[in-house]
Amino acid sequence: MKGTYSMGKKSRGHTHIPCRRCGHTSYHKSHGFCSRCGYGNSSKKRKYSWQAKRKKD
Ligand SMILES: [Zn+2]
Repeated sequence: MKGTYSMGKKSRGHTHIPCRRCGHTSYHKSHGFCSRCGYGNSSKKRKYSWQAKRKKD
């Protein structure tokens, strides 16, 4: 099956569910943590150096 028609099957299954902390659908059901804010993984907020917003230089 090809085309937009087959896209309907994409809704099958939920790997990520809405996160309680950040509200995004990034909470991994089986892994037990949010890929966006890190909820469930650690008490700290998920943060990486590469995601820090740089000031205009
Ligand atoms: Zn989250």
